[in-house]
Amino acid sequence: MAKILAIAEHRNGKLTDASLELCKAAKEIASAMGAEPAAAVMGKDDSIAKEVAKYIPTVFSVADAALEVYTSDGYTQAIKAVVDAQDVKGVIVAHSYDGVDYAAKVAMAIDAGIVSNCNKARVEGGAVIFTRNTYNGKIQEEKKVNTDKFVVTFEKGAYDMEAAGGAGAVSSVSASISNVRTKSKGIIETMAGAVDISQAKVIVSGGRGCKDADKYKDVIVSLAQKLGGEYAGSRPVIDSGWTDAARQVGQSGKTVAPDLYIAAGISGAIQHVAGMKGSKCIVAINKDPEAPIFNIATYGIVGDLFEVIPAMKEKL
Ligand SMILES: Cc1cc2nc3c(=O)[nH]c(=O)nc-3n(C[C@H](O)[C@H](O)[C@H](O)COP(=O)(O)OP(=O)(O)OC[C@H]3O[C@@H](n4cnc5c(N)ncnc54)[C@H](O)[C@@H]3O)c2cc1C
Repeated sequence: MAKILAIAEHRNGKLTDASLELCKAAKEIASAMGAEPAAAVMGKDDSIAKEVAKYIPTVFSVADAALEVYTSDGYTQAIKAVVDAQDVKGVIVAHSYDGVDYAAKVAMAIDAGIVSNCNKARVEGGAVIFTRNTYNGKIQEEKKVNTDKFVVTFEKGAYDMEAAGGAGAVSSVSASISNVRTKSKGIIETMAGAVDISQAKVIVSGGRGCKDADKYKDVIVSLAQKLGGEYAGSRPVIDSGWTDAARQVGQSGKTVAPDLYIAAGISGAIQHVAGMKGSKCIVAINKDPEAPIFNIATYGIVGDLFEVIPAMKEKL
């Protein structure tokens, strides 16, 4: 049976959340196509592949010392080996730093068309139609490949994370990894010690409407702490130094997709929305009923955030 192959990513021996989203995507697309969902895992051994087997029934493990650390040459050769050994119709990659680096190369290697940075897929007449934002989310476009196989990259939050529960089978695929032209000398965390808001389940985000650093702390930081989540901000908040750069959400900041995103005093400029529109539930608090943030909000509260947030905190 044809397979839809999710490429699992891991860092420091830990599977990324995006990998679980890809397992879900592979299952949904495969089911709509009458294909079989599967995953491929590259690593020095099959330990991560065994972990992935809790989320998807079929896992192909390509184990090689050269795959201990990510390189685009290594991953491309390994994925090609799986595609050559199996009837793979589609390869699903995370739109992560690594995914963006190797996805097009894989498409070239397996003679497939590629659609990148997608947020949805549907199957129509046997073909997969992918949806992606363009012009910073102003419009959405639908794309399909003209080739027999496809490669797609999905942005974070496009799919829910698959829940663990299965006991899939892991089989190994051998690949001779050679001529790796890059050597990873180590991963440098540019914001070592800084919080990674992209992993948070609850985010309270403040904008220019918070007025100043003290008020931002008073309303946004305290509500985030009360909810057990992280606090974040729009670019003016970071530019004004009310909080650190690691907490900026948007086009030039982080992309987040929490279960709950509270946007207070944020107008909803396209560059901000680009970084948080994948959130499961968006609560917007703004005193301007015409603020564009209300166009994407699940719940909108028209009001002064300095009255609304204290009232929310009182109820918690
Ligand atoms: C290349 C480029 C990249 C960019 N990248 C980013 C990015 O990554 N992230 C980002 O956020 N922006 C980014 N921007 C900036 C973006 O265009 C907007 O300027 C910015 O998002 C606006 O931030 P804001 O909503 O906090 O402020 P504003 O647009 O000034 O909105 C403030 C809002 O607060 C409301 N308000 C005021 N007082 C109250 C109150 N008491 N109670 C309730 N509501 C109140 C107002 O009605 C208003 O809607 C980028 C811009 C460019 C050009």
